[in-house]
Amino acid sequence: MSEIKKEEEKSLNFLEEIVEEDLKNGRYKSILTRFPPEPNGYLHIGHAKSICLNFGLAQKYGGKTNLRFDDTNPVTEDTEYVDSIKDDVRWLGFEWADELYASDYFEQLYNFAVELIKKGFAYVDDSSAEEIAKQKGTPTEPGVANQYRSRSGEENLQLFADMRAGKYKDGEKVLRAKIDLASPNMHMRDPIMYRIKHAHHHRTGDKWCIYPMYDFAHGQSDSIENITHSVCTLEFIPHRPLYDWFIENLAIFPSHQYEFSRLNLTYTVMSKRKLKQLVEEKHVTGWDDPRMSTISGFRRRGYTPQSIRTFAEKIGVAKRENLIDVSLLEFCIREDLNKMAHRRMVVFDPLKVIITNYEEGKTEILKGEDNPEDPNTTYRDIPFSRELYIEREDFMEVAPKKYFRLAPGQMVRLKSAYIIKCDDFVKDADGNITELHCTYIPESKSGSDTSGINVKGTLHWVSAPDAIHAEVRLYDRLFRVEDPSSEEGDFKDYINPNSLEVVETVYAEPALAHSKFEDRYQFLRKGYFCLDKDTSEEKLIFNRTVTLKDTWAKEVKKG
Ligand code: ATP
Ligand code: MG
Repeated sequence: MSEIKKEEEKSLNFLEEIVEEDLKNGRYKSILTRFPPEPNGYLHIGHAKSICLNFGLAQKYGGKTNLRFDDTNPVTEDTEYVDSIKDDVRWLGFEWADELYASDYFEQLYNFAVELIKKGFAYVDDSSAEEIAKQKGTPTEPGVANQYRSRSGEENLQLFADMRAGKYKDGEKVLRAKIDLASPNMHMRDPIMYRIKHAHHHRTGDKWCIYPMYDFAHGQSDSIENITHSVCTLEFIPHRPLYDWFIENLAIFPSHQYEFSRLNLTYTVMSKRKLKQLVEEKHVTGWDDPRMSTISGFRRRGYTPQSIRTFAEKIGVAKRENLIDVSLLEFCIREDLNKMAHRRMVVFDPLKVIITNYEEGKTEILKGEDNPEDPNTTYRDIPFSRELYIEREDFMEVAPKKYFRLAPGQMVRLKSAYIIKCDDFVKDADGNITELHCTYIPESKSGSDTSGINVKGTLHWVSAPDAIHAEVRLYDRLFRVEDPSSEEGDFKDYINPNSLEVVETVYAEPALAHSKFEDRYQFLRKGYFCLDKDTSEEKLIFNRTVTLKDTWAKEVKKG
């Protein structure tokens, strides 16, 4: 195993190979990457992958990473999103070199456009969007030039200045690059560089009424910042010739674009547009609903930054589209939480147990390990008394063979406490079991057990008079199919109606009264939990981060 691991560590992904080669042959002295989110929504786990990749690459090779907001579309962008994005990147554990905004380059981008017009590489087109699309041809048919393509440089300069000055309405004119209307690559058929949009921008206000298109802004922004390796997702491959064309014809810093496959995860959707619909149509409580694939959703659910970084590392960098099983992400968080979560006992569906041979009114303080995985574990106090709660499902009146929990005449160990034996039970008029009568073995105390009795089952429990109340929220997958976006019809038709189960009152050991937001817990036999932000003075609320085992895999096998 460790041999295999070492092998893995030695082999480089294709981006690392490129960077090593570029550094070795002196193409760059150091590398500079960037993470370029559009502030039109909250980041999702796919963005986390891109963040880990861009920041990770720079860290590994002693370079730096910029955070650049790709804010060229005034209509959909907002400072709320800018703030959340900064929060998320920091939470993941990364610090950027410079915080930059594509909108800061609007003046320079305008000047670049003027330069291209002067060189005869751009023209103002009065055609409508439909006309432009029609004249562009199809992949098998070349496009045709219209009368605007041959406008003089002078006329173009004047018209472009007038566009900027607000002389025209939205859609009346565009600025296009003059490249090749017969190119097999549709992106090269005189792509639009600027469109008119009389809209307020979250940073530049009303200063501009023309805005650069992605293709005219992105590469130039990279170049302005001297980005060496501009990493993006595969759908931008056909944009690369255009990226290079602008840089070449402007003779500016030669940034280069490289593409990797975007992360797709089972049982969720991963586009800001779709996530926004879930929020706006109230299928979830907000962008940070713990069922969302957003970074803030995972954070609220109790995921650790480390688990997400490990996940990003494990899935690696591929050049082919694929769908990653969400159980891999769950595996990463379980591994991390197992190492750090404090163990606590919480009974969800209580059945009262009376220890008939335990002194009435007495409370004994037992010690429980906070974390058996930690050789230097701390301990918490666990009160024990005559009246306890166990889980209703941990008792059977008539037990089958190999049932190692409680049944009449059977013994179990109460975790961190004593061995008890069930002597009798009480039923109400409807036949429901209301109470168990048990005896405890005083010499069987955990840590100093001299009873010599071996029992197979260990149960979690709480002392009834000491128990505190809490609410737990049990989350499941938000969608009931692996890839909701590829199913027929609307992706929202595939929402899992049982993605949230709320248990309003559970009975928790008193140590949980002091829970803090950053704490992580394993509720024994129940799963990993963390405090939710809805917690108030009156009520503790816990989110289930993940179950202890992959219960979904079992469900699928059962059919
Ligand atoms: P969405 O469609 O979800 O809005 P986007 O690509 O439009 O995604 P941007 O804010 O433009 O979102 O992306 C910022 C960076 O994150 C880009 O470099 C983009 O390639 C990358 N990215 C976005 N989604 C993923 C994903 N699923 N996997 C990996 N990287 C991604
Ligand atoms: Mg986008």
